[in-house]
Amino acid sequence: MGNETATATAAANKADTGLARALAWIGSGPKRLLIGGRWVEAASGKTFEVINPSTEELLCHVAEANSADIDAAVAAARHAFDNSSWVGMSPHARTRALLRIADQIDRHADELAAIETLDNGMPLWFSTAVATTAADIFRYYGGWCTKILGSTIPSDASGFVYTLREPLGVCGQIIPWNVPILMASIKLANALCCGNTLILKPAELACLTSLRLAELIQETDLPPGVINMLPGFGATAGAALALHPDVDKIAFTGSTAIGKQIVQASTSNLKKVTLELGGKSPNVIFADADLDKAVQAAVKTFCGNSGQVCSAGTRLFVHESVHDEVSERVTRLAATYTVGDPLAPDTKLGPLISAKQRDRVLSYIEAGQAGGASLQLGGSQWSGRGYFVAPAVFDGVTNGMRIAQEEIFGPVLSIIPFRDEDDAVFKGNDTTYGLSAAVWTRDVARAHKVARALKAGRVWINTYGEADPAMPFGGYKQSGWGREFGQESIDAYTQVKAVMLRM
Ligand code: NAP
Ligand code: MG
Repeated sequence: MGNETATATAAANKADTGLARALAWIGSGPKRLLIGGRWVEAASGKTFEVINPSTEELLCHVAEANSADIDAAVAAARHAFDNSSWVGMSPHARTRALLRIADQIDRHADELAAIETLDNGMPLWFSTAVATTAADIFRYYGGWCTKILGSTIPSDASGFVYTLREPLGVCGQIIPWNVPILMASIKLANALCCGNTLILKPAELACLTSLRLAELIQETDLPPGVINMLPGFGATAGAALALHPDVDKIAFTGSTAIGKQIVQASTSNLKKVTLELGGKSPNVIFADADLDKAVQAAVKTFCGNSGQVCSAGTRLFVHESVHDEVSERVTRLAATYTVGDPLAPDTKLGPLISAKQRDRVLSYIEAGQAGGASLQLGGSQWSGRGYFVAPAVFDGVTNGMRIAQEEIFGPVLSIIPFRDEDDAVFKGNDTTYGLSAAVWTRDVARAHKVARALKAGRVWINTYGEADPAMPFGGYKQSGWGREFGQESIDAYTQVKAVMLRM
């Protein structure tokens, strides 16, 4: 047996172990809500079903939180904020607490990855990478605990003026189903490192890794009530959290439409709000780019996680002189992307999250054709079980078409030619969104010029989709308010107190 084969076999065995542990945990009975350090049924006694999107089979039942449970969780989080050792603890102790969570994630990474794949449908290689990133996020925020600084303000000799950066209090957090373990880790680690307590509501369509993560965090001995985990539906549990008068901040990741409702609900008590919303990101290829790399990345970004990624480069702008070549190469490469069982190592695209999401994506493929765009690839219905959609590539797209303006959240690419730099920037910015963008060129001056001109919270040059917890992430325009990661995210989970002393 060659070294490569031995490594592959060892990796497969390791994955099997994770899968076995994932199945054992999922099969161990209905999942409950975490409120005040205890796992409890929903007050209503209701549960909902969790479905495996690649088989359409029932995985398990989960307690369905509603407003009564949210009330109980907010009370528990408030009590923990006001009374537990969590808030006044030494920053070094808080760092150690976050690092312990990171170690827990690493120890259970295979299991978490397999749970994510069974629940969400993403390929196992992808969920494995994501679980590792989740641990890194806790380490990143663990490092911040000792670096959340106030300042001294110049004053006359008999005075002393300084600022303290203090936690906000009770944070409500709402996340989507697309990369749940990552979304949960970002929210939890950021709030915890700043000394807040929190209530997290995962999306009901994929909530299992959030629940397992909460169990693993409980094992690290956080005081009861510091984290509360309440799966439930958005219209009930989510809305109750956003409206709650004793929640100090709401951090929401999801669609722009629901983000607007969150803002309205937040006026009940003027809670602080941060929003990570949708995108329709431009990926701009100039004629002088390394086309091999650009084509690879263009396909990877619109197919990654079956297109269910907020920052996906779904609008591919190509200089007219290389448009035909790039369009042809992108289509040919996308056709080789394997769709199927997310547990199989060579699968590039698993299923979409639900039948509803699949039908929505298929309806956009129909709308693209009806609107006059030319479908180069994809579009046929998947026969058999699972909510699969193969990559679809549209050429001959104009910016006014629905497929070029609306977030599809599926593996659908729109290719649009441009004339020159100004045309690329104008078309790239012609959207209500502003989450991400990319530019491909060997001309350094042009790269920086276009990066500045594109209205997006993150711009990549000669790469796409690479992430680092130290890089701020968030939206221009209707893609959001505030930033996750970086100093900006510390500011978003703390508030400043100015103190004046007269001696
Ligand atoms: P969504 O429908 O907006 O839901 C997001 C979360 O909000 C879910 O937990 C949902 O609960 C909850 N929710 C729904 N209605 C609510 C309400 N009235 N009040 C409070 N909470 C409510 O979005 P999605 O379809 O799950 O996720 C896809 C969207 O998320 C896309 O637009 C994508 O771009 C965006 N996203 C953005 C980022 C980013 O960082 N910018 C990252 C990932 C995804 P239930 O689903 O359980 O009902
Ligand atoms: Mg949903």
